Amino acid sequence: MVTTTLVPHGFCAGVRNAIKTALGIPFRGGNVYCLHELVHNELVVEDLRKRGFLFVESLDEVPDGSQILFSAHGVSPRIRAAARRKGLDVIDATCPFVERVHLDARRFSGKGLKVVVIGKKDHVETIGILGEAPDAVVVGDPAEAMALADDPSCAGRTLGIVSQTTMNSDSVKRIVEILSERFPVETAAETCNATKERQDAVKAFRGDALLVLGSANSSNTKRLCEIFGAKTFRAADMDEVRSLDFSGVEHLGVTSGASTPEEFLSAAVAYLETLKN
Ligand code: SF4
Repeated sequence: MVTTTLVPHGFCAGVRNAIKTALGIPFRGGNVYCLHELVHNELVVEDLRKRGFLFVESLDEVPDGSQILFSAHGVSPRIRAAARRKGLDVIDATCPFVERVHLDARRFSGKGLKVVVIGKKDHVETIGILGEAPDAVVVGDPAEAMALADDPSCAGRTLGIVSQTTMNSDSVKRIVEILSERFPVETAAETCNATKERQDAVKAFRGDALLVLGSANSSNTKRLCEIFGAKTFRAADMDEVRSLDFSGVEHLGVTSGASTPEEFLSAAVAYLETLKN
């Protein structure tokens, strides 16, 4: 079996920055809370847990006055206001690319546009962006974009389109096309560069199977798996890599989600080398 490591891999700039921010927090004696997983990778989250971080899903779980870390995926204005009311010491690790999407959604909403967020309804990034525009709607795929033509809340409106940063870039383009044929639109919808570069590398790969290293809840990891189309394996840690059956694979590509530690990729590649003997 030949293996090819697809470039780019390792942490994206937003994940690197979020981890650096977390590790730079001076602990004041108690725990530091983190609202949601800092990034969607269980190896990273487990490491932070060992360092004393407590992961919560709601500010209700955080005692007043505590230190709270906001994840790379960003939070809605409502959460920021709630943190102020509780007197929390906020450390913000929101990725700048996500911040830009919030700004665009707020700008469109301020102009009276109907904000459309291309994203996954249950993803924390999308939930945060939705908070910028009271009547925003989420569109997850081209079929939902077509259905928007019959949504009475969109009738006679100009749409302001933004996107979750880790969507499939081709799907984002297609959804914008569909909406543009049906409504007047202003659009700032695009995936971030890190997402697009990885997706482009997977599209260009010509082997017969792909191993994507990353967690099941990582959006960009899931998109890489979906995009390859042929035989795809996914593994979140070395135990999962070792359990995979690569028999019959002649040329395996190896790539990783934007929040997957490089050490994991190196260990996986070293293990795959042993399978050649
Ligand atoms: S994948 Fe993109 S948006 Fe998400 S943290 Fe990385 S750079 Fe930021």
